[in-house]
Amino acid sequence: MAHTGNQIMNGWFSEICPMWPGMALSVEIEKTLVSTASPYQQIDLYQTRSYGKMLVLDGIIQLTERDEFAYHEMMAHVPLFAHPCPERVLVIGGGDGGTLREAARHKEIRILDICEIDGMVIDISKQYLPEVACGFDDPRVCVHIRDGNLFLDEHPDTYDVIIVDSSDPIGPGEALFEKPFYEKLKRALKPGGLVAAQGESVFIHQETVSRLFSIVKSLFDTRAYASITVPSYPGGTIGICLGSLGVALTQPSRTIPDAMQKHLKYYSEQVHKAAFALPRFAKTLLEQS
Ligand code: SAM
Repeated sequence: MAHTGNQIMNGWFSEICPMWPGMALSVEIEKTLVSTASPYQQIDLYQTRSYGKMLVLDGIIQLTERDEFAYHEMMAHVPLFAHPCPERVLVIGGGDGGTLREAARHKEIRILDICEIDGMVIDISKQYLPEVACGFDDPRVCVHIRDGNLFLDEHPDTYDVIIVDSSDPIGPGEALFEKPFYEKLKRALKPGGLVAAQGESVFIHQETVSRLFSIVKSLFDTRAYASITVPSYPGGTIGICLGSLGVALTQPSRTIPDAMQKHLKYYSEQVHKAAFALPRFAKTLLEQS
């Protein structure tokens, strides 16, 4: 296993990770619902006291039912509303189905592929997190149980939008934070396409964010970094690292349809724009990357 540092003591799960040394996020749990090892990672699912069910991979919190909407709405709607007409979309990772659930609200999409390395994450999410995994029910969704890094080799010039909803750069997600992967992402985009990737925390993971953004800068003319507030991620924030082949990223290019408005709890036109307004230290970090 890539990481086994977490522990449960007196009914509290503590996320202890070498990527954020010296701090731990603790969540009170009531019951362990799943604890199993897939060929790729340790998968745990807990019933928590106040955050609903919580999915943990290799000791790292992936989502809680209470705040998953923030991450999934932003991971899907920021890139999909930035694109004027996203018809062919790929999600890499995202085995819980939350990003798919939000992406499927876009009627423009004709093909919605997901490439998740670990089929057990999908199965467990379908069984225990039906309100998140309902994304898999959309008829446009096509599931590929593969390594996203290899899948891209076979799909040049294919997608309008690629969303990398990956776990952290330890374990099976490691290669998804490297330049060769970003070169493949660029090749897999159609002209005018864009990519949006889980971009870690600008407070906690400055070295990773800086490295990731420098890769995106070296390959994409248009790039930007957005910030999302999610209480159950380390430090309470996580970023999206975006690069495009010419499309503007920092504002929506389409109006949010009325039918979609009623489902949204985080994303709005104002939040899309505001997510790119970064504190001075973050702006400097990205400029110097
Ligand atoms: N945003 C979440 C987070 O970082 O907390 C990510 C959630 S989602 C569950 C991450 C998924 O990425 C996992 O299900 C994992 O199996 C998948 N994944 C990791 N490496 C992958 C790879 N190389 N190809 C495809 N999927 C991968």
